[in-house]
Amino acid sequence: MGSRSPTRKKRSRNCRIRLLPSDLVDQIAAGEVVERPASVLKELVENSLDAGAGRIRVEIREGGSSLIAVTDDGPGMEVEEARMALRRHATSKIATLDDLGEILSFGFRGEALPAIASVSRMRILTRTQGSEAGYEIRVESSEIVLEREAGCPEGTRIEVANLFGSIPARRKFLKKPGTEWGHAIDWLGRLAMGLPSTQFEVQRDDHAAVVWPETSEIAERIAAVLGEAQARALVRVEWEEGAGHVEAFVSGPEASRANGNAIHLYVNGRPVRDKLLRHAVSQAYRDLLPRGRFPLAVIFLTVPPGSVDVNVHPAKWEVRFANPQAVHRLVRHAIREAMQGRGFLAEPSGTRRELGGQGTDRRGWGPVAPDSPAGGGGEGDWLFARDRSGPVGQKGGEGASDPGGHKNLGAGGSEDGRIVFGSMRLLGQLQARYLVLEAEKGLLLVDQHAAHERILYERLRGAWLEHKVEGQGLLVPETLDIGPRGVAVLADASKWIAALGFEVEAFGESAVVIRAIPALLSGNDPRRLVADLVDELGQVDVTPDPGADPTRLLADADRLFATLACHSARRFGDHLPEDEQRAILRGLDAIAWAPTCPHGRPVAAHFGLGELDGRFGRH
Ligand code: ADP
Ligand code: MG
Repeated sequence: MGSRSPTRKKRSRNCRIRLLPSDLVDQIAAGEVVERPASVLKELVENSLDAGAGRIRVEIREGGSSLIAVTDDGPGMEVEEARMALRRHATSKIATLDDLGEILSFGFRGEALPAIASVSRMRILTRTQGSEAGYEIRVESSEIVLEREAGCPEGTRIEVANLFGSIPARRKFLKKPGTEWGHAIDWLGRLAMGLPSTQFEVQRDDHAAVVWPETSEIAERIAAVLGEAQARALVRVEWEEGAGHVEAFVSGPEASRANGNAIHLYVNGRPVRDKLLRHAVSQAYRDLLPRGRFPLAVIFLTVPPGSVDVNVHPAKWEVRFANPQAVHRLVRHAIREAMQGRGFLAEPSGTRRELGGQGTDRRGWGPVAPDSPAGGGGEGDWLFARDRSGPVGQKGGEGASDPGGHKNLGAGGSEDGRIVFGSMRLLGQLQARYLVLEAEKGLLLVDQHAAHERILYERLRGAWLEHKVEGQGLLVPETLDIGPRGVAVLADASKWIAALGFEVEAFGESAVVIRAIPALLSGNDPRRLVADLVDELGQVDVTPDPGADPTRLLADADRLFATLACHSARRFGDHLPEDEQRAILRGLDAIAWAPTCPHGRPVAAHFGLGELDGRFGRH
């Protein structure tokens, strides 16, 4: 053990144990609490709410890196209180250990203001109700540099300027203003959904970006934040059992999303990211959504304050429940109640197709036809069925470009050993899942979804690499409400999106107009494609920058292609007319294919005659 210590010995000689100076302590705390402008906004707005504000005005300049200001109409602070608020562990919200067990305020740790003040220039303007004048305090890197009486309205205004200005190492981690703005408004929207009786106004740079007026109807607030179109897909349910109470607004099967970002969870009014609750939500949707799809959900869970610990994460994103199983059950039951009430869960498994949405219409709850050929009118929206000219590879022999990339499945023949799907006898479709082919020495099953996914993926990728992704203009442009964050995400990735054949333009602060989609994906619902794109792009923090390292670029692009392909491909369970079945086989022959889908599942499986004969005892 002693042999490991040279560096340690050296260090211990130089460094004696000591208490850290308080400004350093604040900066260390800031590392936990202040990740980016959105987290500053979170702390300031939560303070206003804890103070009982009814109106909150937010200003964000340059994504918050130059200014974040929060003004409220709360009770304000006395001079002494304001000075005190800047000190570590100073809080008005709890006083005893018992209080810590029953927290109902957003804040209680008393560290946000000092932490933020240690990494920015802060100005506090505050005036208590009924007092003659207000008071101003300016702080730079934790030092109070100015105090004076000042004229200001009743309430409190806190400005945070030049965030991380004195810490270049952290400032350089800030993303583009659009991205930071996206995070900030996304978080504020999440918070605001649970607080309909508080009015929020947001100013971005020099224009009014968002107003969420006070309302007594939570559904109205949800619609204001998420947009009317999304809100229309939600059904409300209330459910109560042992562990607590749930009020939930959840989507049916037709309005699914590409990731879990549209699941909004609240515990006693506090927005949280909680694995347990997420798991409960996905369990409830298990039979309703295909794998990899997620619902839109806004779930307010109310439990006795003593049965949940909110003090497990500095930014209080996570919580711990005294009885996790009971909470899990409560949420599951609430959602299933909502789904059963709509008849979505009454059917046995395998009937998902009857539950789907028309694709373009996410408004209603009526059981409408899915995006499958059976319901969607078949031929019209099937890429390959219309591709009468035949796949590229059959003309140009593109398949030969990947001689080593495939595994010989011992099936249909070509000179180079590569399987030629199109040359095998097609026996038909099995259970709306597999295409069944007679191979030279056995039977070949092709997973129709995996195959179609692979084809779309390869075509998108190939066209993108050659800068030849063609866009197909929509006859009638469509608008899509994706929220301010979504708009920011798309704006950041605009070059990319254009390179993919999309033509999408911002339309106000929270919507976009879609004018074109990749021609390869024509026939798909443009709104759904763009929504998926936003989900996918919003998940990576680094919005792909066309100037970036090309390998990274391709890796990011590949993920996008995989997502688009997966969501556009024919599903497992879709009945395909024969010409579509053949089109898939031709499509496989045309790509430089690997025998797996982009997610790694096999596309085809071969059952040799020997294996089959064995089953019949014919050896
Ligand atoms: P915490 O919120 O955990 O108490 P903070 O550092 O965020 O800690 O705030 C410290 C204190 O400052 C609060 O407890 C509160 O008394 C006071 N304070 C902060 N913001 C406001 C505000 N907008 N209105 C009134 N009081 C405030
Ligand atoms: Mg606070």
